[in-house]
Amino acid sequence: MYLKSSIFLSIIFLYSCQHTHTHTHTSFDLDPKIEQSIDSLIRHMSVEDKVGQTCQITLDAVLKRDTNGVVLEPNVIDPQKLHEAIVDFKIGSMLNVSSHTLALEEWHTIVGAVQKTSLKSSHQIPVIYGVDAIHGANYIKNSTLFPQEIGLAASWDTAHAIALGKITAYETRASGVPWNFSPVLDIGRQPLWSRFFETLGEDPYLTKIMGKSIVEGYQGKGQINEYHVAACLKHYVGYSTPTSGRDRTPALIPQRTMEEYHLPSFKESIEAGALTVMINSGEVNGIPGHANYHLLTEVLKEKWGFVGFAVSDWEDFIKLRKEHKTAATLKDGIASAINAGVDMSMVPNSPDYKTYFELFVELVNEGRVSMTRLDDAVRRILRVKHHLDLFEKAPFSKETDYTKFASQEHRLASYNAAAESITLLKNNDNILPLSNDQSVLLIGPTANSLNFLNGAWTHTWQGVDSQYNHNTSTIKEAIENKFEKVSYFEGSKLIMVEGDEADIQSKDLELAIRQAYSSDVAIVCVGEMPSTERPGDIYTLDLPAEQQQIIKSLSKTAIPIVLVLVEGRPKIIREIEPLSDAILQAYLPGDMGGLAIADILCGDVNPSGKLPYTYPKHNGVIMSYDHKHSELINGNTWNNDFFDPQFEFGHGLSYTTFEYSNLKLSQQSIRSSDQLKVSVDITNTGARKGKEVVQLYLRDHFASVTPSVKKLKRFTKVTLMPQQTTTVEFLLNQSDLEFFGLENKWIAEDGTFTVSIAKLSSEFKLEN
Ligand code: BGC
Repeated sequence: MYLKSSIFLSIIFLYSCQHTHTHTHTSFDLDPKIEQSIDSLIRHMSVEDKVGQTCQITLDAVLKRDTNGVVLEPNVIDPQKLHEAIVDFKIGSMLNVSSHTLALEEWHTIVGAVQKTSLKSSHQIPVIYGVDAIHGANYIKNSTLFPQEIGLAASWDTAHAIALGKITAYETRASGVPWNFSPVLDIGRQPLWSRFFETLGEDPYLTKIMGKSIVEGYQGKGQINEYHVAACLKHYVGYSTPTSGRDRTPALIPQRTMEEYHLPSFKESIEAGALTVMINSGEVNGIPGHANYHLLTEVLKEKWGFVGFAVSDWEDFIKLRKEHKTAATLKDGIASAINAGVDMSMVPNSPDYKTYFELFVELVNEGRVSMTRLDDAVRRILRVKHHLDLFEKAPFSKETDYTKFASQEHRLASYNAAAESITLLKNNDNILPLSNDQSVLLIGPTANSLNFLNGAWTHTWQGVDSQYNHNTSTIKEAIENKFEKVSYFEGSKLIMVEGDEADIQSKDLELAIRQAYSSDVAIVCVGEMPSTERPGDIYTLDLPAEQQQIIKSLSKTAIPIVLVLVEGRPKIIREIEPLSDAILQAYLPGDMGGLAIADILCGDVNPSGKLPYTYPKHNGVIMSYDHKHSELINGNTWNNDFFDPQFEFGHGLSYTTFEYSNLKLSQQSIRSSDQLKVSVDITNTGARKGKEVVQLYLRDHFASVTPSVKKLKRFTKVTLMPQQTTTVEFLLNQSDLEFFGLENKWIAEDGTFTVSIAKLSSEFKLEN
C-alpha cells in the first residue's frame, strides 16, 4: 500500500515538474497509469525509435509505382516499402490519400496493412494516421459532406458545428483513421486568401464558439471512443492574414492583434481538450511559424498547458531553408523547428524521410536537440496514441461496425446545416419565396455541378475533378424537382487556364435572353472555381465579367432576377446587386446544398443564416465590422460614413419578420466582479415560423487603446412561431469588457459601455 501510493505521488511530482514554472494545469486530464507506461516505454526506446515517432510520411511513399514512377491505380501498398518505413525507420505517423478519394474497403486495406506492420516494429507502437476530413469525411467515397466552415459559421448554431464534428468523426473512424486535420481556427479577415472558405469568418468570438463545438463533436466531450477522432487545430497561428493575400506569404501581427483576434479561438479549443495542433506554414513578423519558440513553447505549451502534440504543416522543416531562409541547411531547419516546440514533422515527401531520420539522429547525438526535448515530443505523441486507444484496441475497424456511415440520418444533419447557413441577403418586394408553378429560367456556371457546391478538399485536394461527385443533386436537379417549368442555360463556363480560373461566355446566353421574355423568374447561379492553398491565389475579388454579363443581359428584359452566390469568399457584386431583386448567399454548402437552395427558393425552408463576414463593396476596401472610429471618416464627404459594405457582418433576412423590444440591463453601473444580465424580447411579427440569431454587441466609449466601434460578445439562435415572443437573457462579465492594454495585459477600464441588440441599445458604467 505504502509502496503504491509513493509511486503514484512521484508520478504526479514528475508531471508537475515536466510542465514546470509557468502553469499548473494541463489542457486535458493525464492518466497517471498511462503516463507511467509511456515513461517506461520511452526508457526502453533508442534514439532511432524516438526520432521515428516524430516522423510523418505520406501514403504515396509506400505505394507501388509503375516503371515511370507513377503511382499505380487503383493504389496498392508495396509491403517492402511499408516494412522499411515502419519497421526499419520506425515511422510514427502517416497521412492523406494519394491523389483522390478512396472507398471504405480500400481504406481498410491500407490502414489494416499499416497497423499490422506496426505490430512488427521493435516496440509495436501503432502508427497514427491523419487526414483532412474538413467538411465531412471528404476523402471517403459516398461519405456525408457538410458545408465548408464558412457556411457552417453562417448558421450561427453550435448544434450544427457539433453535428459536423460528430458525423465527420464517425465516418472518418469508419475507415480506420483516428486523426483529423481540422478545424481551421484562423480568422477570416482577408478574403483574397485562398483558404478564406476554410475559416469560420471574421469574428474571434464566433470562431471561438463554433470552433470549440466542432472539437467537441470530433473528440466527444469526455473520453474519446471508437466513434471519435483527435482534432487538429490549425494553423497555429496568424496564417490567415498575409498582407498580400497570397497563401503562405508574410503576415504582420502586432501583439495586441494577436492576443485579441488570433489566439482566442485556439486557446478556447485547447482548453476544451483538443489533442493536436498544426503549425502555421507562413511567417508572422519575420518569424516562420515553425521556428517561433515564443508562440509554440511559451504560449501554447507553458502558458496554456497544452499536453498534446504539435505537428508541422507540409514540408515545413525544409521550407525553413528553401523558402523562409532562416536555416542555412535542412539539418539547421530540423533543429530550429524541434527546439521551437514542433513535435512531429509532416515530412512527408521531401526530403526523403530517411534523410530526415538520419539528420535528426545526428542532431541528438551532437547534442543540438536535447534528449529531454526529444523525449517530450515523443511523450506527447504516445500520449495522443493512448488517448485514441490505438495501443489497446485493433485500430482498424470493420465497415460493419459503422452502420450509420452515409446514412439518411447523417445526410439529414448535413442538409439541416446547409439549410440553416444559406443566407438571404436581399429580397425586394418579397419576391422570394417563389411558387412552384412559376416558370423558371435557371442559368449560370455553378448551377449544375456538385464540385462548385463543395469546393476544394472534396475527393481531391483542389476539388475540381468531377468524377467522384455524384452523391446527390446539383442545384439544377433540385430545382427541376421542385418547379413545374424549368429551362436551364449555362450562361458562362469556368475553366482553368494556366492554373487560374478563366471564364468564357457560353453560346447559350443569347437563347437564354430570348427565353427570359416567356419565363416568370430568372435564377442566376454564379461563383468561383474550387481551389485552395497556393493554387487558389487570385488577382482580384471581382466576380468575372462573363458572370456579371449574365445578369446585365437579363436585366434588359423585365424578368425578376434571383442571384444565387456559390462562393467561398465574397466576390465583388457592386454592379449587379442593384440589378438583382433577391440575393441568396449559399457559400460552399456541400452535397446537400442543391436541395437546401431549392427548398429555400420555393419556401419549404425559411432562411435563417447570417453573414459571418463583412461583404465588401469594393475590391480596395476590406473592412471588418469591428473597425476603429477613425476608419469611418470619409475624405470625400467629411462625414463618418466611409463604412459602406455591400452587406454587413451578421446580416441575413427571413421570410418572416422579427421585432425586438424591452432591452433591459440588470444594473446601470457595475463593478469588475459583477455580472451584468442583459435581456431582450423578440417577437415573430410575420405569418411564418422562423429562426432568428440574436446578436449582442458591446461598445467601449473611450479607452487607453483605441476601441472598436463594436464587438460581438454573445449570440443565440431562437425559433419562433408566428406572433410568439420569447425573452433571451445573456450574462456578461469582466472578461467581456477587457482589451489588451498598454502594459500588454488584459484589462477593463472604468467608463461607459453601450450594449446593442438589433436596433436597441442601452448604456452602463463600469465603476470600481
Ligand atoms: C495544408 C494543411 C493540411 C496539410 C495536410 C497542407 O498543405 O496547409 O491544412 O492539413 O497540407 O494535407
